Amino acid sequence: MHDDRNLVEARLKRVLNERIRPAIHPESVPLEVAVWHAPDEPVPVAEGLAAEAEPIAVGQAWGKPWGTSWFTVTGTVPREWSGRIVEAILDLGFDADKPGFQCEGLVYRPDGTPVKGLNPRNQWVRIASSAEGGEEVRLHVEAASNPIILGHDAFRPTAMGDRETAGGDPLYLLTRMDLAVFDKTVWELVMDLEVLGELMLELPVDSARRWELLRAVERALDAVDLQDVGGTAAAARAELAGVLASPAAPSAHRISAVGHAHIDSAWLWPLRETVRKVARTTSNMTALLEDEPDFVFAMSQAQQWAWVKEHRPEVWAKVTKAVAAGRFVPAGGMWVESDTNMPGSEAMARQFVHGKRFFIDEFGVDNEEVWLPDTFGFAAGLPQIIKAAGSKRLLTQKISWSQTNTFPHHTFLWEGIDGTRIFTHFPPVDTYNCSMQGRELAHAARNFKDKGVARHSLAPTGWGDGGGGTTREMVAKAARVRDLEGSPVVTWETPSEFFAKAEAEYPQPPVWVGELYLELHRATLTSQAKTKQGNRRSESLLREAELWAATAAVRADAPYPYERLDRIWKTVLLHQFHDILPGSSIAWVHREARRTYELVARELNEIIDGAQRALAGEGQEELIFNGAPHARHGVPAGGAAPAGHAPGTRARPTAEGGFVLEDELLRVEIDGRGLVVSARDLRGGREAIAPGRAANLLQLHQDFPNKWDAWDVDEFYRHTVTDLTEAEDVRLDGDGVVVRRSFGASAVTQRLTLAGGRLEIDTEVDWHETEKFLKLAFPLDVRADRYASESQYGHSFRATHTNTSWEAAKFEACNHRFLHVEEPGWGVAVVNDSTYGHDVTREVDEHGTTTTLRVSLLRAPRFPDPETDQGTHRFRHALVPGAGIGDAVREGYFINLPERRVAGAGPVEPLVTVDDDAVVVTAVKLADDESGDVVVRFHESRGGRAKATLRAGFPVAEVVATDLLERPTGEPQRQGGEIPVTLRPFELVTLRLKRA
Ligand SMILES: [Zn+2]
Repeated sequence: MHDDRNLVEARLKRVLNERIRPAIHPESVPLEVAVWHAPDEPVPVAEGLAAEAEPIAVGQAWGKPWGTSWFTVTGTVPREWSGRIVEAILDLGFDADKPGFQCEGLVYRPDGTPVKGLNPRNQWVRIASSAEGGEEVRLHVEAASNPIILGHDAFRPTAMGDRETAGGDPLYLLTRMDLAVFDKTVWELVMDLEVLGELMLELPVDSARRWELLRAVERALDAVDLQDVGGTAAAARAELAGVLASPAAPSAHRISAVGHAHIDSAWLWPLRETVRKVARTTSNMTALLEDEPDFVFAMSQAQQWAWVKEHRPEVWAKVTKAVAAGRFVPAGGMWVESDTNMPGSEAMARQFVHGKRFFIDEFGVDNEEVWLPDTFGFAAGLPQIIKAAGSKRLLTQKISWSQTNTFPHHTFLWEGIDGTRIFTHFPPVDTYNCSMQGRELAHAARNFKDKGVARHSLAPTGWGDGGGGTTREMVAKAARVRDLEGSPVVTWETPSEFFAKAEAEYPQPPVWVGELYLELHRATLTSQAKTKQGNRRSESLLREAELWAATAAVRADAPYPYERLDRIWKTVLLHQFHDILPGSSIAWVHREARRTYELVARELNEIIDGAQRALAGEGQEELIFNGAPHARHGVPAGGAAPAGHAPGTRARPTAEGGFVLEDELLRVEIDGRGLVVSARDLRGGREAIAPGRAANLLQLHQDFPNKWDAWDVDEFYRHTVTDLTEAEDVRLDGDGVVVRRSFGASAVTQRLTLAGGRLEIDTEVDWHETEKFLKLAFPLDVRADRYASESQYGHSFRATHTNTSWEAAKFEACNHRFLHVEEPGWGVAVVNDSTYGHDVTREVDEHGTTTTLRVSLLRAPRFPDPETDQGTHRFRHALVPGAGIGDAVREGYFINLPERRVAGAGPVEPLVTVDDDAVVVTAVKLADDESGDVVVRFHESRGGRAKATLRAGFPVAEVVATDLLERPTGEPQRQGGEIPVTLRPFELVTLRLKRA
C-alpha cells in the first residue's frame, strides 16, 4: 500500500482546527456588556456587583496593569434554542498559550454566588443544559488585568512587575462576549480525534495499531460534511468507536491522574492576587467535580485553603462540601510549598506543624504525603522532619529539570542525614501541568525508570503555576485512555491511593542517600538578599521570642503570646514559598516582603523585650540574655547573667603598612589592601590562610545566565573574575580595621574585628551593578576532599573536587549558618548571619592542596525584578580558625543570636539545660494547645552519638516524647525533671514536659 501517513496526519490537523473545533459552538448571539473599573486595588464582591457600570463593546481596550474591572453581561436566550445546551463564551482578550499568566476572571451570579473562573482554557459558562427560549441571562465577571510578565519574549527586563512602575495603559482587548449553542456531539468528536490522533503519533510507525488508528481517523474525516459538521459528527464518531473500544495491553503503564493546579503563592503576581487565583481555580474545580463523577482534585498549601476560607466564604462552602465527599482532597501537609534548601530547622518543622494542623482541624485529614512538585531541590535534613511530622511519602517533579545529570529513579527511598528513609516518587511525566496529551502520557510510560519492577506513576493534571486547574477536556480525554490499546492506563486517583499502590508493588525500591540537588536555579540562594536576610532574622527572632516568652510564662507567670506567635510564624512560613524566599518573584512581591519582615521584626522584638523585662525584674544590674543554645561569656544558654570575661583585642599597625589584630586565641594580619594575609590560631599554633593567598577577598564576576535570570547562575560565570584589591582607605578604628573600596558604580565598607577567637567581618555594600555576582573568598590552608554545610538539624557534606558530573554540577550550593572544612584534628569555619549561596574549590601548588570557601553576597539580575538588589546591604561573616564541627555549630548560632543587654535585679536561670554541647536545643516553647506544657526540641548536632542529661529548671510532673505537632509518640514518664537522653547521629527529639 502506498504510504499516505503524513497526508492523513496533516488533514486531521487542519480539519480539526478550521472546521470541527469551530463547530462546537455553531450558533451565537452577542451579549450586552457593561464595565466598572475599580479605581485602585480589588474591592469586595458586593461592591463590585453593585458598582455603576458603563457600556463597553467587544473590540474595546480594557484593563490597566494590575487593575480590576467588573463586567456585567446580559442577554436573552433566543427562542429557537429551546432544549439545546447554551453556554456563555467570555473571552477577555486571552493569549491562548498562557493560562494563569495574564488576565483572568471569576464569574458570579447576581446574588454573589461564584460560578467558575475564566482563563484561556476555560472561556465557557454553562447557562442551561436544556435551554428555555426567552430566558434572561445576567452574569458578573471580576476580571483581573494582570500583565504578562513571562511573555513570548521571555526574560527581558520589564517594569510591569510592580503596580508602582507598570503605568496605566490598558493591556487587553475585549474579544468575545456571546451566548452560544454548545454541540456536545461535535465536542465529543473533537475529544475522540484528539486522543486518537495524539496516541497515533506516539506509536512506532511500524506498528499495526498506528495504522489502524490512521485508517479509522481517515474514515471519520471522510464521514464529516464540512458544511454540516453538527449533522455528521455522530456518523464520524461511529467510525472511531471500534478503535476506541480496543483494550490496553496487560503490561501497559498505569498512570494515576490527580486533578491539580500548582498555584504559586506569589510569583509573577503579588500575594493578594494569589488569594483571587485560588478562588478562581477552586470555583472551577468544584464546578467540574459536580459535572464529572470520576474526577478527583487535590490542592496543597494550607495557606491557600486558609485564604479561601477567610476571603471567599461563598467558595469555601463549595470546597468543604466537595472535601466531605472525598473528591476535593487536601494534598501534602505544609503551610506552603516552601523552598527546602534555605528554611532553618525549626521553620522547616513548622511548615509541617501548621500545614498538617490546618487539614486536621478543618477536615480531620492527616496526610502521609508531602507534596512539593516545584521546589528547587531538597536538603538532606528533610526526611527526618517529614517523619517527625508523622508523614512518610514525598512527591516532587522538579529534579527532572536538572541540566546535567538524569536522576536514576522515579520511585525510590530517599535517605536523609540521620538515616530516615522516605518513600519518594518523581512523576515520569516530567510536568506538574499535565493536560492529558498523548505525548505526555507516552513520555511518562517511556521515561519511567522503574519498569519491570513497578508500573504505577502519578500525573498532576491541570493548568498550574498561575492556576486554572483541570479542564473538562482533560477529563474527557482521561476517560478515553482508561483502557485503550497503545496507551498507558489512566485513572483519576488521590495521592494516597497512588502511593498505596506504588508502595505495594515495589517493596524494595532503590535508595538515594543525601540531598536531592537541583542542577539548576542555583542563584536562588543569593538573589533578593533582603528577602533572605528577612527570613533568617525572623527565624532567629522567633526562636528568641518563644524561648523568652516561655521562660517568662513559667518563671514570672507572664501571659504567653500564643495568637501573635501563631500569626507571625504563618507569615514567615508563607514567605518561604518557593518563589519568595528564592528571590524569583516580581519587584512588587519583594518590596512587600521587605516591609513585612520589618513589621515581623518589630513585633518579635516587642515580645522579646517584654519577656526579658518580666524576667529581669526591677534593678540596675546589666544582665546579658543569651538566646543561643550554648553558654557564652559565662552566661548559660537560655539564661541571663552579668557579663563574664571577654578577651580584649590588641590592634596595631605594622611596618609594612598593614595592621595586626590579636587576642588570646587569634592573631590576624591585614595588609595595606585590606586583605587578610594571615589568621593564626594561637592555641592550635596553625595558620589558616593558604600560603601566598589572601582572605576577605571580594571577587566580582560577570553573571548573565542563558535564561531564568533571578534563578540561574551558569557555570561559565567563573571564566572571568575581578579581584577587588584596590582600597581607598584602610585604617585602624578603635579595636578594628576599616576598609573602604569602590568598584563600578558601587562601594564597600568593611569593619574587621576579633571576638573570642573569631575574625568578624561586617560588610556594607552600596550595590549598583548590573548582571554581576559578588563573592567573598577565604582561601584556607586546609587539605580536604569534602566540606560540611549546615542544613536542617545537622549538616551534609559535598566534595571539594569535581571527579564526576554530579559533583561538578554542584558549583553553587546552600548552607545555613556555617561552612566547615577540616583536616583530622584541625579545621576552619566560616559563619554568616544571612547568606546561603557558596562555592568551594581546591587548588594545588608548590605548597600542597588548599581549599577556598567563597560565600555569595549579591547578584544583580534584571528579570523578573529589573532593579534586583540595588541599594545598600549589610552582611556579617566570621572566620573561625581552629574550629571543630561543634565550634562551627556554636559560632553559627552566636553570629545569628547577638547577646541582649537588659538592666534587672539578677540572673535568670534557664528553663532547660543540657550537659553536652553536641546536643543543641532548637526550640523551647509552650505547647500550642495552650495547656501550659513546656515543649523542648533538640538534636545531636555533630553527626556522632550523644549521651546527655536534660534538666528542667521547673517542677515536672510528666515527660512524653512527641511528634512535631506535639502529639505523644510514646508513653508518658513520671520524671523529677532530670531526663537522660541518648541520641544517634543528628537524631531529632521533641519532649513535652507537663509542669507539676
Ligand atoms: Zn511553583
